[in-house]
Amino acid sequence: MKNNPLILLIFFLISCNVGEVHDAIHGSSSGRDLSNYGEPSAPLILISIDGFRWDYLDKTETPNLDRLVSNGSKAEGLKTVYPSKTFPNHISIVTGNYPSNHGIISNYFYDSDFDEYFYIGAGSKAAQDGKWIEAEPIWVTVEKQAKRAMIMFWPMSDAEIMGIRPSKYFVYNETPTNIDRIDQLLSWLLHVGNARPSFLASYFSIVDSIGHSYGPDADETIEAIRDVDKAIGHLIDGLEAQNILNEVNIMIVSDHGMTETPDTKVINIADYINLDDVITIGGGPFMEIRPNEDKLESIYQALQNIDNTQVFKKEDIPEKFHYKNNDRIEPILLLADEHWSIMKPGRTPAAGSHGYDPDYQSMNGIFIGHGPAFKSEFSGPEIQLVHLYEMMCKILDITPASNDGSLDVGSVFLKD
Ligand code: AMP
Ligand code: ZN
Ligand code: ZN
Repeated sequence: MKNNPLILLIFFLISCNVGEVHDAIHGSSSGRDLSNYGEPSAPLILISIDGFRWDYLDKTETPNLDRLVSNGSKAEGLKTVYPSKTFPNHISIVTGNYPSNHGIISNYFYDSDFDEYFYIGAGSKAAQDGKWIEAEPIWVTVEKQAKRAMIMFWPMSDAEIMGIRPSKYFVYNETPTNIDRIDQLLSWLLHVGNARPSFLASYFSIVDSIGHSYGPDADETIEAIRDVDKAIGHLIDGLEAQNILNEVNIMIVSDHGMTETPDTKVINIADYINLDDVITIGGGPFMEIRPNEDKLESIYQALQNIDNTQVFKKEDIPEKFHYKNNDRIEPILLLADEHWSIMKPGRTPAAGSHGYDPDYQSMNGIFIGHGPAFKSEFSGPEIQLVHLYEMMCKILDITPASNDGSLDVGSVFLKD
């Protein structure tokens, strides 16, 4: 009993409080083994702070992020792809493709071939299923080229994609603290030889969730900003303790910003169309609408000229959104102006939201790069997040898969 391995494992998991690490060497269908891996490159650590708006660094003291900024590179803003939601943008960061080309066209959408809905959140089976993704994420590129990826949460990093998984990954859950997540990355960096990771990633959700609940300017949001800054401080301290702070590359990004969505700015969709005539998908900054047979034209006409919205048939969605060429996009898109929420009857918006046209500056996130690959004391222009995949492949010295980004755009932040 005393040395029962199962009990020891349970104690270990409780004390770590992070869930179960998955080791793809034993779990993947790729059939690769340790001996296939070559020399690791200088590690690249990618951290996403969900919903960290471009100007949040100026809202309060963020000494740790400021330290990375002053010794590294920072963009004026990181421009999101449409829709400015979590999954489409995280997958655009790691594939370099627009959502219509990587397939994760929203947080919630329908696929007629599968006759299933994709959805997100802890416990989502869809978000752990690689069949939904139509482009190659960086961790697959890394692993295919004989380097290791180790990921402590990133959207779809817990899915097998093209037969490949990260060498280490966790199934998404909300229990581990941000400090736990950083500790996991730091412990992976202790691996030596061909067990050492080249690419590491993690994800913090608190700034986004508090931003939704209280709004971007609330004291609670400022507290969450300080909280993630402390986690970044923990990363810096841990890298310094391992004596590698200036040998690893760090990229801090966010997937979108946040704006106020007051309950006085609500468009009740039922005031314009009969909900029995359509299936609606989503709500808030935008609503996707699938009219019943023969109803397309009448529904489209009924949605014309609603104040504070724009309506598009799928084929007329403006080119700047890159949001047409995927069967998962519904026939009609009703898009709200900033601050407005399109809702079904009886629903009210949270205090803050995102999902609007990426041209609103409030939708911009952050980009900070620090380490040997990045220029120091450099402040650069706004950059769109589809260009980050090419940048990461360059830093890791691997060949990118086909994507919509350009290295030229990102290279202004890199040393020659
Ligand atoms: P959003 O509604 O666009 O703000 O999405 C944020 C939400 O995405 C978080 O609150 C989580 O519930 C969810 N999420 C983030 N990462 C993952 C993941 N790896 N798997 C499933 N859901 C996730
Ligand atoms: Zn997000
Ligand atoms: Zn959010």
